[in-house]
Amino acid sequence: MASVGFIGLGNMGAPMMRNLLKAGHAVKAFDLSETARKAAVDAGAVAAVSAREAALDVDVVVTMLPAGAHVKSVMLGEAGLFAAARANTLFIDSSTIDVATARVVAAEATTAGHAFIDAPVSGGVGGAEAGTLTFMVGGADDAFARAESILAVMGKTIVHAGGPGNGQAAKICNNMLLGISMIGTCEAFALAEKLGLDHQKLFDIASKSSGQCWSMTTYCPVPGPVATSPANRDYKAGFAAAMMLKDLKLAVEAAQGSGAVIPLGAEAAQLYALMVGSGEGGLDFSGIIHMLRGKA
Ligand code: NAD
Repeated sequence: MASVGFIGLGNMGAPMMRNLLKAGHAVKAFDLSETARKAAVDAGAVAAVSAREAALDVDVVVTMLPAGAHVKSVMLGEAGLFAAARANTLFIDSSTIDVATARVVAAEATTAGHAFIDAPVSGGVGGAEAGTLTFMVGGADDAFARAESILAVMGKTIVHAGGPGNGQAAKICNNMLLGISMIGTCEAFALAEKLGLDHQKLFDIASKSSGQCWSMTTYCPVPGPVATSPANRDYKAGFAAAMMLKDLKLAVEAAQGSGAVIPLGAEAAQLYALMVGSGEGGLDFSGIIHMLRGKA
């Protein structure tokens, strides 16, 4: 069993950490929120007084933080985790952050004599609780090999996507496609409504035809056809529109930095910005159908 420092005990981090405890790992946990630290102790972790303390004398450090700026500020510099941790600590950053920051941080980890992988996840809070997350991993082969048994406790599908930053690249490419396909699916239903075509009929046909995609078959944005989709519970997230906007902004930023041309990804970012700006950022991202019907 490993000793693990876990930093960032929010909606995702807390259940991921609990799965490490259930598997028998010893966890030193830290979050800026005292409530989160108390809940971690109740679950069986030892609370650290700072991120730095959580990273002292452990085999592995897992971070699950909001964005790249948080990851940088926690890891780098004289007061950062790379300076505090013992030599050759394995760092697993599961936060969704920009590719450029992931690569900078990975290089700094190597310079400091540590192993580092970026390992963002898909699967949401439900997947974090059930231990069925998908991990998209970027980093060196030996770091990936060391991380696999830890990731397997928190996830079901673990894919090594390539060198440093490639986990984040996979995450934003996937989520950009998801944002675009959700908007397309909503547009198809909104058009069907105007044309007098029943939701269920469109679903029965499109879910078996060339228009089928995950947004249609698993997460259908209208109530009825897929019982488990958020449309059946007034678009309660699920995957919040604000989170989708975050990932689409990362995709736009990555495209600008790399010269990729993503007209639909950029348009999706603008449409989700409108939805979030209208006060619906907490709704599930499939709730964008209201806006696309012109009823936001
Ligand atoms: P969250 O806001 O619930 O949790 C983030 C936690 O980090 C908070 O508890 C906050 O107090 C803590 N934190 C911030 N700065 C800190 C610091 N310097 N030191 C210690 N703790 C600090 O967010 P979340 O939903 O758990 O998401 C975490 C990451 O996972 C994000 O990057 C998000 O994009 C990604 N993600 C989220 C989901 C989801 O469905 N929620 C799905 C996939 C990926």
